[in-house]
Amino acid sequence: MIYTFRGGIHMEEYKFTADSPIEKMPAPKKVYVPLSQHIGAPCSATVKIGDTVDKGQIIGTVEKGLGCPVHAPVSGKVTAIEEVLTPMGRKVSRVVIENDGEERLCETIIKKENAVSEVTPEACIEAVRLAGISGMGGATFPTYAKISSALGKVNYMIINCAECEPFITADHRMMLEYPEEILDGVRILNKVFGLEKGLIAVEDNKLDAVAKLNEVRGNDETIEVRVMKTKYPQGDERQLIFALTGQELPAGKLPADVGCVIFNVETCYNVARAVKYGMPLIERVVTVTGDCVSTPKNLLAPLGTPMSELIDFCGGLSKKPMKVITGGPMMGMAQWDINTPTTKGTNAILALSEKFTRPYDPNYSCIHCGKCVSVCPMHLMPLYLAQFSEQGDLGMCEKFNLMSCVECGTCAYICPGSVPIVQFVRMTKAKINEEKRRQQALAAAAAEKSEGKDSSDKKEEGKK
Ligand code: SF4
Ligand code: SF4
Repeated sequence: MIYTFRGGIHMEEYKFTADSPIEKMPAPKKVYVPLSQHIGAPCSATVKIGDTVDKGQIIGTVEKGLGCPVHAPVSGKVTAIEEVLTPMGRKVSRVVIENDGEERLCETIIKKENAVSEVTPEACIEAVRLAGISGMGGATFPTYAKISSALGKVNYMIINCAECEPFITADHRMMLEYPEEILDGVRILNKVFGLEKGLIAVEDNKLDAVAKLNEVRGNDETIEVRVMKTKYPQGDERQLIFALTGQELPAGKLPADVGCVIFNVETCYNVARAVKYGMPLIERVVTVTGDCVSTPKNLLAPLGTPMSELIDFCGGLSKKPMKVITGGPMMGMAQWDINTPTTKGTNAILALSEKFTRPYDPNYSCIHCGKCVSVCPMHLMPLYLAQFSEQGDLGMCEKFNLMSCVECGTCAYICPGSVPIVQFVRMTKAKINEEKRRQQALAAAAAEKSEGKDSSDKKEEGKK
């Protein structure tokens, strides 16, 4: 049986690196480790300039709130702790470490006997938290928090191996080259959630990976590899849940609300390494590709490596790119500085010419063909979202469920009128959120004022 969802599109895959084995990139002379690589509160540095650090040592922790630590990807000396701008224009601190080349491993990294068979939920959550693992498909939500909030609610545990965006092959190569650790990750998570079986979901353009996982799984009935139709955005949590369980995940709800929990495949691999060896997340697989990269590759690179060094390791740029993107072409983020370092969420670096990028067309025009409606996986009316956004009619946008849009870009991809639907949606979401914040602030001010009035009225009463 092939699993799928309603809507979506099959697009050109351009998976040039599908047959390129993962190459371990030599650690750079300097790494630049951002102290904010996850959703939640940023870390504060726990080291200072001049400190000597071991590979895997914690260099930043979150003092309060949601978040997970960051670690030194190399051994060496801290030479700077500085503030820089992210691609989103946000200021973050980062720790610069000069690599001493000694590869001195932190003493907390040791093999634990029977780690898989004896793991408990508490031990797993603590190991994953200490290892600083956050969602490696790009979402970067702290994994320990996802596990603990889903405990006791889960009927389906799904390992997301869809990798449905064009160009990216990091997950595909992980499945082919590290199947044992991935399967151990599933066994650990099955135990943690008390499940008899965990599901690994792979698109049918990666049947070699399906065969490899099944071969290594053997007759282990606690793991099932399910094959899904190759279609974008199959890797979106809502589409994955629908395809595998037939359940709709309502807008604003979490997968655990419908009994599901989903982990990216490299996250699952790192859960196994954290539980078995206390290994922190200090490196990841990055697909470096696009028609402007001389020799596209899948690289295992230390976090904090400048993107420019990964591109250089692939022979550099063969021509000037129109865009450099981290992540996929549909949902990734264009970069303005290719010296930006890789982080826990960087699964790909794409250098693309105009052949693969669609510039903004100021003469866009909707011809009411309805194609965007037929492909929207969220069953929205993208043409109206664009139209009401353009008119600034926030009420109608909300009425047409604009906030449910997952910004997958499928509608804009198919649109013959070049309507910039996703840009309109993003702009309107920002306006709606801003308006909500304004209303909340007004309500809070009014409540404060009335409290103040109440207490002064009571004082007056007291005097009488
Ligand atoms: S696909 Fe584009 S042109 Fe067609 S209805 Fe949607 S917005 Fe209009
Ligand atoms: S970007 Fe939004 S409106 Fe467009 S197809 Fe995706 S979910 Fe639907």
